[in-house]
Amino acid sequence: MIQTSHSLKWWKLKTKKVLHKYIQLRDVVVKNGSVYAQCLACKKVWELTTSYDWKNFHASHRFRADLFQSVEFNEDNIHGCCYNCNRRLSGNLGDYDINLRKKIGDERYNELIRKKNQPHKLTIVELEKIFNEYKTKVKEIKKLKGIK
Ligand SMILES: [Zn+2]
Repeated sequence: MIQTSHSLKWWKLKTKKVLHKYIQLRDVVVKNGSVYAQCLACKKVWELTTSYDWKNFHASHRFRADLFQSVEFNEDNIHGCCYNCNRRLSGNLGDYDINLRKKIGDERYNELIRKKNQPHKLTIVELEKIFNEYKTKVKEIKKLKGIK
C-alpha cells in the first residue's frame, strides 16, 4: 500500500532510521547477555548499556549519502563506527576502506563501487519497499541475537 500523502523527504528519514537501527543490530556482538559494539574503522570495542551508548554507535557511510544517492540505503555502504571515527575523523575512511574490503569481500566491495557511480534517484515506492524490508530485518535480527 502506498501512502502518497507523505513526501519523499519523510520516507527518506523514516527509511534511514530503520536501516541505521538494522546496521547497529547487525554489527553488535552479544556475549553472555552483554552487547558490544566494534568500530569498523579503528576496531575499538565498547559495551552498549545505555541509550547514550547506542547513540554513539554510528551508522557510518563509506560513500557519503548526500553525494552518492544510489548507495545511500545500501547496507554494504553503511557500517557501525565510533563517534570519533565518524564525526571527528570524517569517517576515518582510510582504515574504514581496508576493513570494509576484508569484511564484505572483494566481490561485494567491487559491486558497491560500481553502484555508487550509477546515478539513481529513489522514488517513494522504492523507499517504502526498503523501509518494509528493514522493518522485518530489524525484528528478525533482534530475535536472532536476543536483543530487546
Ligand atoms: Zn572508530
